[in-house]
Amino acid sequence: MQFIETRGNDGVKPSSVPFSEAILSPSASFGGLYVPENLPSLDKDFLEGHLESHYKALALDFLQEFGIDIETEVLEEALKRYDTFDEPSNPVPLTQIEKDCFVSELYHGPTRAFKDMALQPFGYILSKLAQKRGEKYLIMAATSGDTGPATLETFKNQEGVKVACLYPDGGTSDVQRLQMVTEDAPNLKVIGVKGNFDDTQNTLKDLLASEDFKAELKERGIKLSAANSVNFGRIIFQIIYHIHSYLELIRKDVVKMGEKIYLVVPSGNFGNALGAYYAKKAGLPIEKILISSNINNILTDWINDGVYDLTNRELIQTESPAMDILKSSNIERVMFDKFGAARTKELMEALAAENKFTLTSTELSSLREDFDASFSDDMECEAVVGMYAKKGYVMDPHTATCMRAYETLREKKLPTVVYSTAEWTKFSPAVSKALGHEVEGDIEALKWVSEHANVSVPAMINELFEKPVIHNLVVEKEAIKGEMLNFL
Ligand SMILES: *Cc1c(COP(=O)(O)O)cnc(C)c1O
Repeated sequence: MQFIETRGNDGVKPSSVPFSEAILSPSASFGGLYVPENLPSLDKDFLEGHLESHYKALALDFLQEFGIDIETEVLEEALKRYDTFDEPSNPVPLTQIEKDCFVSELYHGPTRAFKDMALQPFGYILSKLAQKRGEKYLIMAATSGDTGPATLETFKNQEGVKVACLYPDGGTSDVQRLQMVTEDAPNLKVIGVKGNFDDTQNTLKDLLASEDFKAELKERGIKLSAANSVNFGRIIFQIIYHIHSYLELIRKDVVKMGEKIYLVVPSGNFGNALGAYYAKKAGLPIEKILISSNINNILTDWINDGVYDLTNRELIQTESPAMDILKSSNIERVMFDKFGAARTKELMEALAAENKFTLTSTELSSLREDFDASFSDDMECEAVVGMYAKKGYVMDPHTATCMRAYETLREKKLPTVVYSTAEWTKFSPAVSKALGHEVEGDIEALKWVSEHANVSVPAMINELFEKPVIHNLVVEKEAIKGEMLNFL
């Protein structure tokens, strides 16, 4: 299976590359992204063949059907990373919260957010590729709070890969920040940036595109890669858990093979939702993918009105910071799939030049065949968190945005899977507030919520507050390049 480019080919880069190339060097012609030329089929036979499968077996088979150029032994080792999750026999448990509503908990990995689902195996594969080629790679991640910890965790002490993580100072929770700044390994660097997530992501994009930074790296014999969801190496693992959700509903006798379900995906960079889109396209019986956002609801406008407009928007900090994103990278892959490379290039160039693009009504209808969208503000999310906590289920604010989509967007009464993308422990002050007790700081909040809602705090969260801080650098955007060169 080869990978092609969302904005067409520039005649300099190869017009298609194998998986290994697409993940080692994820930037395609004209600033586009790599996408698979086609998808394996998730037909009835495939699904029936995996009714008894362990998550790892399902994943291995799916990856092999994809025909990626990674050896089986490497894939098997990579998937063993799921053995470190809370329940190795089922790393992604599904919990019923309403008669027809099930929460797929994607956060049972080492950093307590869904980023581990993809980054854990991806990190292993990328390091192995680097080692085998005798090459050195630099991964730079811009994080709104969850990618950073998960990227550091997967690459720490891995040969052949150095990681630098940029996070918006003040734009993450205490736990998220501590997960980064206490991470101690010689191949890791963590830098706080004065600005919001979009500033941080833009700084990274500029740096990655800059010729003189590339020249500096070349001199040091270091190649650049990326671990955010522009890298298809993450997306591929984010298709698998959607298949798993469906199989779980069959196993629980909620649906019969072939019956359709809704998925609700709390979205920012649209990687999770893109995985769902590919699963649907490959044949998984999904009625629609419902996208939920916080008040930074640019995806709601894109899906409901076909307008992607940054001109009148400022990023607003919310209680669901991992979704405080205005430039959502992976919508590009959906648009390529639906409208082709020429049109995608045109739309993305309009966005770059005018900060805005508008879909035609035909394009919008096509988008709405697969997606619908809504958003919730912080107050609404707090109400949702409080209501479910009373019923005995504690969810985080990102997950809480999903409940409005569940309640208002479903045209049919079909069983629904809501994705829980973080454990409440990563956002405990917001959860505590939602339960009626405002506190300063995560330590107090963790304690209070755990006592009052009768939920436990995992050891890896409690231990963070005792660990020494290794990285205490917070700088202006302009200083990033210098800091990076020091590190290298
Ligand atoms: C990253 C993240 C999201 C957004 O996921 P995308 O794939 O970027 O849309 C939502 N919730 C949490 C907790 C996250 O960490």
